[in-house]
Amino acid sequence: MKNNENKLSHDTKGELSGVLVVVEHVGAEVSPSSLQLTGKGRELADQINKKLMTVLIGENEESLNKMTADLISHGADIVYISQHKELAEYTTLPYVRVVADLIKDIKPEIVLFSASTSGRDMAPRIAARIQTGLTADCTNLVIDDFDDPISKNKYQKVLFQIRPAFGGDVMATIVSPDHYPQMATVRRNVFEVPPEDKSRKGEIIKFESNITGPDLCLSIEEIIRQTKKTVDLKKARIIVSGGRGLYKQSEKGFKLIKELADLLGGEVGASRGAVDSGWIDHGHQVGQTGQTVKPEVYIACGISGAVQHIAGMSGAKMIIAINKDSNASIFRYADYGLTEDVFEVLPKMIEYLKKEKNIEN
Ligand SMILES: Cc1cc2nc3c(=O)[nH]c(=O)nc-3n(C[C@H](O)[C@H](O)[C@H](O)COP(=O)(O)OP(=O)(O)OC[C@H]3O[C@@H](n4cnc5c(N)ncnc54)[C@H](O)[C@@H]3O)c2cc1C
Repeated sequence: MKNNENKLSHDTKGELSGVLVVVEHVGAEVSPSSLQLTGKGRELADQINKKLMTVLIGENEESLNKMTADLISHGADIVYISQHKELAEYTTLPYVRVVADLIKDIKPEIVLFSASTSGRDMAPRIAARIQTGLTADCTNLVIDDFDDPISKNKYQKVLFQIRPAFGGDVMATIVSPDHYPQMATVRRNVFEVPPEDKSRKGEIIKFESNITGPDLCLSIEEIIRQTKKTVDLKKARIIVSGGRGLYKQSEKGFKLIKELADLLGGEVGASRGAVDSGWIDHGHQVGQTGQTVKPEVYIACGISGAVQHIAGMSGAKMIIAINKDSNASIFRYADYGLTEDVFEVLPKMIEYLKKEKNIEN
């Protein structure tokens, strides 16, 4: 990377200010992923003995004040507020301007963004403006010392940015010890929202950014918000989940899964394979980047048992797997396994339960 006036070199590390979390919100609600990042940011800030800072960008003073209190009670030491009529809704250039200006001003050691649509849009542009590195879609962040095997340099308390690579077959650990801030976008739901402590005190600092004409080249005509029904699988006693094994007739397959779940008084879950195929909403996904569930009974239908899926359901008291392939990994975790076609087994289970409950077809 070439030198430039904004580059923060390793020599300046002592002067760096701490961890900065770029906060996302809808109206007056901080997004769950930003609260999760605030929790992780608190942990990292404590490990490098520096402050946890957050930046809130928006227009409505009342909403910003409410969210400031939420951020402090979830672990922030300082909340920077950038308030401007042009910042009411996310648009790329004004938001990039604010965060890049703030970073140049306060020189954080680490900057974290959610790996959301806006986080993924903003972070690379900011990295380019301030000439630093960026790791996208991290699933873990760790502070540790780093001995560079090539330069032989030794670095203390570097941010190890960990993310899956090669389709999830390996976990890559990425460091950028010569450039600050160390920046990452982080997938949602990989960290927990920290417990709230309303007695915490924090500092609120208003930050004015020089949003100029070229930043305002885009205007928003209309915003259409769609609300998705979220399913709280965490409380479900029984979950029937469908996977990519339903590919032959996915619509029929998920109808069968819903019917069985209803008969059992349970909820419908899914693997990411099914979610990515567009058969069911992400709100039903179980696993590392979905929900972690602990039902009494988990019935996995046409799910192979990838580690990322197992991570979300291995706490189930009883696991029943239905899979055509007797070598599928899911059988290693299952208490009961059926090496069968889901389209043959599910109708039989439904028929049996209907008979038991005296329900007419
Ligand atoms: C960072 C990262 C995070 C991830 N997070 C998650 C996550 O949160 N949740 C998650 O689930 N995955 C997650 N994944 C993806 C995960 O690695 C797998 O790709 C995914 O779980 C596979 O979904 P699947 O089991 O439905 O599909 P597949 O792996 O394709 O398995 C389909 C199974 O169906 C069986 N089958 C086919 N037809 C039938 C039939 N008619 N009857 C019975 N069985 C049949 C097949 O034998 C096969 O075992 C993540 C991956 C990465 C890299």
